[in-house]
Amino acid sequence: MGLVLGRPGGPRFSQVIRVQQIRLSVNHSDADLRRAVATALGLPGKDILSVRIHRQGVDARHPRSLKFVYSVDVEVRDEEAALAKPRPNVARAADVPYTVVTEKRSWPQRPVIVGTGPAGLFAGWLLARAGARPLFLERGQPIEKREQDVKILETTGRLNPESNIQFGEGGAGTFSDGKLNTSISDPRCRWVLEQLVGFGAPEEILIKAKPHVGTDRVRETVKIMRRALLEHGAEFRFGTKATGLVVKDGRLTGLELNGGETLDASSVVLAVGNAARDTFEMLHRAGVRLEAKPFSIGARIEHTRAMMDRCLYGPHAGNPRLGAADYKMAHHGRDGYSAYTFCMCPGGAVVPGASEEGGVVTNGMSEFARDMANSNSALMVGVAAKDFGFEGPLAGMLFQRKWEERAYAVAGGGYRAPVQRVEDFLARRPSKKWGQVVPSYLPGATPANLWDTLPEFVCEGIREGLAEFQRRIRDFAHPDALLTGVETRSSSPVRIPRDETFQTNVRGLYPAGEGAGHAGGIMSSAVDGLRAAEALVVTVGSEAQ
Ligand SMILES: Cc1cc2nc3c(=O)[nH]c(=O)nc-3n(C[C@H](O)[C@H](O)[C@H](O)COP(=O)(O)OP(=O)(O)OC[C@H]3O[C@@H](n4cnc5c(N)ncnc54)[C@H](O)[C@@H]3O)c2cc1C
Repeated sequence: MGLVLGRPGGPRFSQVIRVQQIRLSVNHSDADLRRAVATALGLPGKDILSVRIHRQGVDARHPRSLKFVYSVDVEVRDEEAALAKPRPNVARAADVPYTVVTEKRSWPQRPVIVGTGPAGLFAGWLLARAGARPLFLERGQPIEKREQDVKILETTGRLNPESNIQFGEGGAGTFSDGKLNTSISDPRCRWVLEQLVGFGAPEEILIKAKPHVGTDRVRETVKIMRRALLEHGAEFRFGTKATGLVVKDGRLTGLELNGGETLDASSVVLAVGNAARDTFEMLHRAGVRLEAKPFSIGARIEHTRAMMDRCLYGPHAGNPRLGAADYKMAHHGRDGYSAYTFCMCPGGAVVPGASEEGGVVTNGMSEFARDMANSNSALMVGVAAKDFGFEGPLAGMLFQRKWEERAYAVAGGGYRAPVQRVEDFLARRPSKKWGQVVPSYLPGATPANLWDTLPEFVCEGIREGLAEFQRRIRDFAHPDALLTGVETRSSSPVRIPRDETFQTNVRGLYPAGEGAGHAGGIMSSAVDGLRAAEALVVTVGSEAQ
């Protein structure tokens, strides 16, 4: 079915009626949708001029009667008449558009952006549009070279600590599922989606309740965004790490690069992501206030895609209109620890997310088609300062490193990951071989006992989570499902406090995105980058007057 009915590719409506909660069977036609809209509005079909899908979700709570759920924007012949009688789920659409800064200002000095993840790129995109010609510093490599470095890790077990799944152009989400759903509600989200579509991301992300781009399309999108930024006067320096701050009277005046060169810089968006441990240490030494923050750790759970599709879609499994099935579950455990699933990658693979020598980190990714053999998600347990066993603002980071190194040692080195069948995990015995599910993780999986690679309370939390989630999804705790450890980078272990101008105690430094502890995920990091850039525009503009 086409996504836009009535006026394909036409302009966005200025005033429309939004009809929500239209529920239709999986195999419905365009005509079914049109009829359902007419019924919801109590109008004859001829009075509906056009129907545009605003949002499409799937209600898979009951696999046998699985439904698409639509929210649609409708143009009708007589709008006043259509709205005269109150009807459930019918109202005038009231989206608040994001007003982006486009004003060209004169900039005393070009702003610098450290990091080219979603926070940095979107901060830079706004600044470039405001005429600032931002300079991007990125410790990692451009996508083309980064792809080769990730391949080397996956095929030989040799890690490049500066160019990997965490570090390089596009940031941590480049080798991801490219999920764009977020819990934040902000008009900037829609704008980010529109910009991404403008850079080549699939148009369907504008309407899907759970939009995703896939690593293949993310990489292409980021390359096109780079070109657009260059056309707007931005500059990129790859292989360039910010290794020090130059501060005079509490104000930033420059950055030390790669341990040598000094760059004059009085306005810096610091968008370094959650893996930049050496950068956090450098900030701490330079007197930037940091706080330890809670996060989660756990393992990736992996099933065959067919298994999850069957459990969640029942007789509809394999229907191409549905794609691969996904889930999201949470359970508040007995001892105050909650277990939850996170970052599900249907039809994807478990990937090596390490960025430090001698530590194993797992994460997940998939392509746009989500058609790989397995589906995985992170099965996580929340941890906080009381669990870290270290002191100070970097305590959480030291805790992460300890368990990553433990996993590396248990798996026998070379960035192989420890993997255990769920049945063996529940029996606390090491696995010896795999069953129906074969691990997707590269550079390789070592059969192991995950109880040796994670804190006891985390394993207990996972065990409780498995029991609870098995009640909700038959086969979730299938004996042959696999746990691949360890997943430690669910979000940043530190927060960099900032005031209402988005600056830290060191003036001129604007922390943004996930690493700063103010966002989690691609979309919220992109939005946070925009907010930091807006603050910078306001501050630099007012200082210039
Ligand atoms: C494999 C994987 C899959 C993921 N899947 C999803 C998903 O599907 N959906 C989702 O919402 N989120 C996902 N995430 C999380 C998401 O990628 C992050 O939340 C997001 O990228 C954070 O954006 P950011 O811009 O704050 O930081 P990052 O994307 O981490 O970018 C920070 C950048 O800064 C650079 N950098 C760090 N230190 C320095 C320095 N000192 N000097 C210069 N450069 C520096 C790094 O090289 C990096 O490129 C995934 C993460 C991973 C690793």
